[in-house]
Amino acid sequence: MRRPIITKVEDFFPQDIIIKKRDGGTLTEDEIEFFVRGATDGTFADYQISALLMAIVWRGMSSQETAWLTDAMMRSGDVIDLHNVPGIKVDKHSTGGVGDKVSLILAPLAAVCGVKVPMMSGRGLGHTGGTVDKLDGIPGFKVQLTVPEFRQILENVGVAMISQTPQVAPADRKLYALRDVTGTVESIPLICASIMSKKLAEGINSLVLDVKFGKGAFMKTKSDAHELAQTMVAIGKVSGKPVRALLTAMNQPLGHAVGHTTEVIESIECLKGHGPADLMEVTYALTGHMLILGGVAKDEVEAGRKMEAAIADGSALQKFREMCVAQGGNPKVVDDYSLLPTAKQLVEIKAPADAEGFISEVDALKCGQAIMALGGGRASVTDTVDHAVGIADLVKIGEPVTAGMRLCTLHINDGVKGSRAETLIREAIKFAPAQHAVEPLVHDLIQ
Ligand code: URA
Repeated sequence: MRRPIITKVEDFFPQDIIIKKRDGGTLTEDEIEFFVRGATDGTFADYQISALLMAIVWRGMSSQETAWLTDAMMRSGDVIDLHNVPGIKVDKHSTGGVGDKVSLILAPLAAVCGVKVPMMSGRGLGHTGGTVDKLDGIPGFKVQLTVPEFRQILENVGVAMISQTPQVAPADRKLYALRDVTGTVESIPLICASIMSKKLAEGINSLVLDVKFGKGAFMKTKSDAHELAQTMVAIGKVSGKPVRALLTAMNQPLGHAVGHTTEVIESIECLKGHGPADLMEVTYALTGHMLILGGVAKDEVEAGRKMEAAIADGSALQKFREMCVAQGGNPKVVDDYSLLPTAKQLVEIKAPADAEGFISEVDALKCGQAIMALGGGRASVTDTVDHAVGIADLVKIGEPVTAGMRLCTLHINDGVKGSRAETLIREAIKFAPAQHAVEPLVHDLIQ
């Protein structure tokens, strides 16, 4: 992608660009550059940025406009140079889900199999959780590292998991914060540019994307997820970085845990070889493509053998410990979960007296909202989260149900919040007399 040079900034006015997009026009490279620059340096007022974002949501963008937007956002800050770190650097990014702790398992697993994993992740927003928040709960674990520290840990350990530095894609920070409060998140070009601008600035060689669709995802339908995946893969091609995307279902939470401590514990259990089938299926599928892109496995069969061996012999768990030590975290959490933030009270939610049949639904969105009700979510980027609260032992679709059976355990710090969460959980879980066919989890591969 070429770097556009705007020679006459005075030729542009924010309102002209807004009007052009509002009326269905196609923006030029210079207009997009002017907008992104203006959003980053304050030339565009928040209301003007928001108006243009809404126009983009309604009118869409061509693939060329989306590529220009991504490029301009990537260049709004530093592009990290990792070429001195030996090995092929591959990251994974999820478009956001509920109970999605895949990164915590996948990053050490891919690293121990021979891929370098420079992972920069976000914090949770709305009903979706964020990897950085989960890591934050590990005592001492530093998610804010300087680029030289990040590079050093990547070289020594093979994996580093940090939060996005303020210097990477600052335009996205500004745009995302406004999108979040102006109803302009759900837009394929905006999501694509937001994700790809950050990932392309990370210094990676290639990328695996987990594009989620369903009740708990930003993309509600498979066809929208497909379009988003294709757009992101195409942007990767233009940038010379191989990108593979897997479409995965996000109707019920992944695994049995949602929250922070509860998800860290479930991730460590996966690394110990006790992972739930659905979570391991998605983890192996995504990690497998990282190993292929990283040149350490020729196909999914070989990748599968390597990953299963690394879990079985404990080397993936050991890599997680090493990463904790390198980032200042206490590796003893692996053997003693009481070192993680712990809630005051555990409350079992039981199936009602008339319950019978099978679990037919565990609505991921409502489960995410229950975490927010408990204080474990973030309604705005500046909110702090309670790492101790969460959901554990959550039932899965297809399980038989009997009266009084445990549906989940809520980890709560406040009774009133706990009752709100219980209401949401009761709305989330539905029963049916007959067992439904369990829907596939991993769908299309787009490359
Ligand atoms: N994740 C991102 O980083 N950006 C989006 O726009 C949506 C999900």
